[in-house]
Amino acid sequence: MTDRPDLPFRTLAQAAGPAKPANELVMPMSEGDRIREELEKGIVFTTVASVVNWARANAIWPLGFGLACCAIEMMAIAGPRFDVSRFGAEVFRGSPRQADLMIVAGRVSIKMAPVLRQLYDQMPDPKWVIAMGACSSCGGVFNNYAILQGVDKIVPVDVYVPGCPPRPEALLHGIMKLQEKILASKPELGPFPRKKRGTRPEAGSTQPKAGSGAA
Ligand code: SF4
Repeated sequence: MTDRPDLPFRTLAQAAGPAKPANELVMPMSEGDRIREELEKGIVFTTVASVVNWARANAIWPLGFGLACCAIEMMAIAGPRFDVSRFGAEVFRGSPRQADLMIVAGRVSIKMAPVLRQLYDQMPDPKWVIAMGACSSCGGVFNNYAILQGVDKIVPVDVYVPGCPPRPEALLHGIMKLQEKILASKPELGPFPRKKRGTRPEAGSTQPKAGSGAA
């Protein structure tokens, strides 16, 4: 184990810096041994921000819904082959009120856009969005009047996962990137400021509702 500045926790040994041998004849204790010794004492140093970010990054609850073919790849990450529970994100929720990650897996039709936005609005803060695949990122091959040309027109996207469809490993990589983003962020402990979001579209229209403003 090394003294990495990105680690959320620091032990007494890490805070004290590298070990210096008492004299030339004594073998210096390795960094791993020193940390193990300190952990056995039950003492670690950290900040509230690090703990909050660490907890949030390692307990992401995705919203369980899929829109098109990409959703099949999304379902695969929950199985034993890819096992998203290694990253703490296996608890797919059936209600947006219990989820903090929306994985937009598939193309978003204009008719579906207000529904998706409503689900996003029902998710509690803090919340994140992954645009999975070419269709949700930019419309993909469906450059036509029926498909939203990128879900970032109606919700703020944190991570884009390219591909058509992306492999489950690519989605896992996207989740790991989101974890990095959460760990590097300044945690908001509430009350949460309103994020700058796209306006809510009306069914059948790509134009925002007049006077609706950010939700
Ligand atoms: S990106 Fe490809 S696989 Fe994903 S929804 Fe679009 S067409 Fe289907």
